[in-house]
Amino acid sequence: MRQDFKNLYLTVFSLLICNPWLASCSIFAAEIEDKGDIQMIYSPPQDENHQEIYEILQETQEFDWLAEDINEAIAMPRDIAVKFEECDEENAYYDPETVEISMCYELIQKYKEIFADEAESDDEYVTEVINAALFTFYHELGHALVDQLELPITGSEEDAVDELAAIILLEEQGELGEDSALAGAFQFDVDAAEEAEFEELPYWGEHSLSEQRFYNILCLVYGSNPQKFNFLVEDGDLPEERAEICPSEYERKVNSWDTLLSPYWK
Ligand SMILES: [Zn+2]
Repeated sequence: MRQDFKNLYLTVFSLLICNPWLASCSIFAAEIEDKGDIQMIYSPPQDENHQEIYEILQETQEFDWLAEDINEAIAMPRDIAVKFEECDEENAYYDPETVEISMCYELIQKYKEIFADEAESDDEYVTEVINAALFTFYHELGHALVDQLELPITGSEEDAVDELAAIILLEEQGELGEDSALAGAFQFDVDAAEEAEFEELPYWGEHSLSEQRFYNILCLVYGSNPQKFNFLVEDGDLPEERAEICPSEYERKVNSWDTLLSPYWK
């Protein structure tokens, strides 16, 4: 039986009728003192091409709500700033020196161009842009949590935080999260098509190849609900040979992240 990520803890808290203001509650609280929050910062862009993204982010406040959810759920040793800004490159990254995540408008602009052709309405377009940026947001947040909570990751950190991003979206964000995880996967499919033009694939890189990241995320999406996402196998996106092990792979990874983060749930 799959343990429900975080919800299990929330259920335990509520069953104990625990009043967090009472000292006696402290044995159930996070193992570190909560000294920080995610702080969202939207820098006004100079390039007018980025103005629309800036406005969508401000108007929808989608990331502000998500940051609030995380702040309510996880104790952090210090503030982590998430800056939406121009960086002169299509990128997003976490800087451990400054404890800041940069979400570059240039990268979101790229997602916008990928999805603009496919969206059938303005609303769908706005949703697709946000969905695509959400996966990246949780991926970078994963790097920040690994660093700040000193999580003992073995194997590739890049693969681990891809998993964390997919799991948070699939476990916590309902249909929006499912759409975002799929949007995240299909971005890697687009990147893989670009990589195919390279003379030599970057096997030496810290990231897995985009095609591998695509299949790993699809596997988690399918594994989270094989009935609902059976179309991924039927449409030929996820080979049956991999799909067979995805439900157990998903369950194991949810449990692993649950164990890693459990000392920090508030
Ligand atoms: Zn990364």
